[in-house]
Amino acid sequence: MKRKLLAMLLAGVMVVAAACGGTTGGQENAAVSGDETNEESADETGDAEKSDAKSLEERLEIEKPWINSNILGTVTDDYAPSEQEDYYVAANHDWLVDAELPAGYSSTGAAVELMLERDEQIQGLMTDDSLTGHDAELIQNLYELWLDWDSRNAFDVSEITKHTDIVKDISTVDELSDYYKSEECLDYGNSIAGFTIGTDNKDSEAYNVELTGTGLSLGDPAEYEEMTENGEAIKKYGDGIASYMLQKIGYSEAEATRLMEEAFDFETKIAKYMMTTEEQYDPSAIEKMHNPITMDELREKSKAYPYADILEAWGAGSSKLMNLGEPEWLEGLNELYTEENLESIKAYMIRNMASGYIRFIDEDSYREYQRLDRERSGITESMSDEKTATTFVKQNLSVPMEKLYVSRYVADETKEEVTEIIEKSIEVYRDMLSSEDWLSDETRKEAVEKLDALTPYVAYPDKWSDYSGLSIGTAEDGETLLSAYEKIDDFLWEKDLAKINTRVDRANWAGDGDIDVTEVNAYYDPTANGIYIIAGILGGNFYDADMSYEEKLGGIGAVVGHEISHAFDTNGAQYDKDGNVNDWWGEEDYKAFQDRADKLIAYLSDMVVVDTGEKYNGSLVQTETIADIAGLKAMLAIAGEQDDFDYDAFFRSYARTWKDEETREAMLGRVNSDPHAMDYLRVNVIVQQFDEFNDTYGVKEDDNMYLAPEDRVLVW
Ligand SMILES: [Zn+2]
Repeated sequence: MKRKLLAMLLAGVMVVAAACGGTTGGQENAAVSGDETNEESADETGDAEKSDAKSLEERLEIEKPWINSNILGTVTDDYAPSEQEDYYVAANHDWLVDAELPAGYSSTGAAVELMLERDEQIQGLMTDDSLTGHDAELIQNLYELWLDWDSRNAFDVSEITKHTDIVKDISTVDELSDYYKSEECLDYGNSIAGFTIGTDNKDSEAYNVELTGTGLSLGDPAEYEEMTENGEAIKKYGDGIASYMLQKIGYSEAEATRLMEEAFDFETKIAKYMMTTEEQYDPSAIEKMHNPITMDELREKSKAYPYADILEAWGAGSSKLMNLGEPEWLEGLNELYTEENLESIKAYMIRNMASGYIRFIDEDSYREYQRLDRERSGITESMSDEKTATTFVKQNLSVPMEKLYVSRYVADETKEEVTEIIEKSIEVYRDMLSSEDWLSDETRKEAVEKLDALTPYVAYPDKWSDYSGLSIGTAEDGETLLSAYEKIDDFLWEKDLAKINTRVDRANWAGDGDIDVTEVNAYYDPTANGIYIIAGILGGNFYDADMSYEEKLGGIGAVVGHEISHAFDTNGAQYDKDGNVNDWWGEEDYKAFQDRADKLIAYLSDMVVVDTGEKYNGSLVQTETIADIAGLKAMLAIAGEQDDFDYDAFFRSYARTWKDEETREAMLGRVNSDPHAMDYLRVNVIVQQFDEFNDTYGVKEDDNMYLAPEDRVLVW
């Protein structure tokens, strides 16, 4: 089992571990460091189980200023506030009452509904006999192999132990160093540090080698300091997988437990040196994490852990550009790379290697994985095997799948119309930026220049990556899911290595799954100064050719406006019009921006969004909320230029795009980690900033939705 496996299994949930050779290609690529409008985890599942949530009456006392209506079961026929009390619930009432979680999801909403539609379309491609050619052969063969339980059940655990035993037998740190440099580790192992191919922050079109931190099973290093309820759930899930797999490969229950404890001990030690999720989201992190380093400097800085030698052995030694995101982590790693910690480092590796196989081998293992996943995410029904197989193909053969999808489902007119909306949005932004009197003349001028250089990437790229060099056989040819997976992994690995010391080709902006254009998502990528409004999101409540213009502006228009704003927020301000890190804001401007953002943070931090009574973390969601407000403001500027504009249709369309219901477990996970505000806040906090909203619905001073002009928190 190879490099990418662990990241595949555990991305977003548990370890994005540094497999030997790092995580390469696929969805992990750092080329797009932009934003996501909405994050959905397709691996989560089913109906809500009863949780220990409080009654509606109790919650109405605790949660302020509105109840968190995104928790499944909150909104009923009896609970029906008016537009003036709680616009989000009023606008989405019937949907919120009737919403049911689809099998395999812990949340549902506009994005999930559209995702299901996309999944169905993509699933159709997997079995459509009328499709011919190399791309169809690749995806259909891989799909069949995933579902072929007969050949999967023939898997022998010696395929795992022959690799884990090598690690088990290591008895000195020197031996461990030799192991890291070996082909064996590169192909089948796991390590405590890795690298990815990304782009250089200050020369955004140059590929570099990004030295990445140690993968942590709890994700956020802060969890090792003080574990949250969500952290406990993730730990239980990760431990469940590890315990099952370790026993499967021959460890006793007691040995497995001891090994897991040692692995966790190592993670706890290294986590102290790593940046927390909140620190990584802080705007200051961009500059802080830009630390170009030469191979000689790396050799000097990493004397115990032979990082430079390992990079050379893995084929990345020729890189002229490397970046060390977290120098403190590397110091910590070198301090911990001792004989004393050898056993816990080995335990960490063995646990990760064994865990990584659970979804790829026999049916018993896979069903256990599903059971643990249901338990973690608070759902009762798992996704069907056919859907999971489709998701697997999507993740691993993104480009062939996307090409087939686009040729069948994306109309040229859609691309044209959305491009027009983007151009119109850029126009109103020019006026917005030009009229910001708190910005200095100089900064205002730079902002407009950056806006003029902004590139829209709409629907799908004109150029695709070449997959003619990859072939996948059928079970009759002797291919298995594992062997196919390894071929893809090798193929993407070679592609990634070939990027070293070359320049980015913007025409091929989807890359190798860097952006999956069938995804229901949109991004701003500061390193390209581009917005990506991709094919996946051009449907459902976001866009339909038959929608009225008002509905289009409230739907996809607000998304476009949101993404453009990221070019000018505290993160975007650090990148210039060419996508290079180069702060073009004056100090005074930045301070003025921060003062305005602080007012917004204070407003959000006074809210209580869950029944635990915990206050919301306004700084976590500041950037995304600023973008939401600016996005709607831009659309209202377009609205103001129209005759007889139907504001009610516009606001309702906006509210519909953020309709959302999820399990309490999923919500608790989001509250502390999602940089986007809860969906009901993404509507209520946003619309209450504007007179157009108050005028449309007759909102008065003593209404719950009312916010006095002096209390409003618009940044732009
Ligand atoms: Zn955003």
